[in-house]
Amino acid sequence: MRVLVLSDIHGNLVALERVLEHAGAVDAVWCLGDLVGYGAQPNECVERVAALPNLACVRGNHDAAVLGYFDLDAFNSEARASIRWTIEHLNESARSFLQQLPDLVVLDDVTLAHGSPRSPEWEYILDLYTAEQNLNEMRTPFCFVGHTHQPMAFFFGDHGRTQWRVPLPESSQRFTPPVILNPGSVGQPRDHDPRAAYAIFDSDAHTWQSFRVGYDVGAAQERIHAAGLPLRHALRLEGGW
Ligand code: ZN
Repeated sequence: MRVLVLSDIHGNLVALERVLEHAGAVDAVWCLGDLVGYGAQPNECVERVAALPNLACVRGNHDAAVLGYFDLDAFNSEARASIRWTIEHLNESARSFLQQLPDLVVLDDVTLAHGSPRSPEWEYILDLYTAEQNLNEMRTPFCFVGHTHQPMAFFFGDHGRTQWRVPLPESSQRFTPPVILNPGSVGQPRDHDPRAAYAIFDSDAHTWQSFRVGYDVGAAQERIHAAGLPLRHALRLEGGW
């Protein structure tokens, strides 16, 4: 099965449409959460994702915050402003879609989580220590996470030492399990590469291919300005930070 792996769309419909077009036909879509927050088109993004074929989707911390599951003080002031805006603008069908999302999905040999398998909504896997703890606790050979907005892989390398690979090349990669893989962010990349990120997982061959694709950043920025959302969320799209 050719699986499209998406994460951290964050209301950026322009980037999402470009990724879906670039990825082409897929058998299934696995989405790792944060469909909303920061960007100006949360309803459109939810509607688009909800209609994708064979969808498995988990909720992220922004999705949960918009549903009122968390105290907004857990976020910085600009993220909070965008969550408040999203709460005001989210329509009923988008809200019910987000409400039915689990925080963890296990599909045969793959676990899907937003942050990490042991703390799905909050933990960032950005360092070898945190990665190792999660690798040791994983119940499936593969775990796909988002949340950091940076494409990367964590696995046990020579002599059982935890290793990472970043950036991930745009060629098909095979990792020896257990492995934690992050496709990066569709709508708000944070690795200083402004192009939208996603991955294709071949669930039979167990290969992973990372992709970056340029999109019309100016159009996404205009929508953020027009919505009256914090300027910073538009600016950062340009530099990918
Ligand atoms: Zn996010």
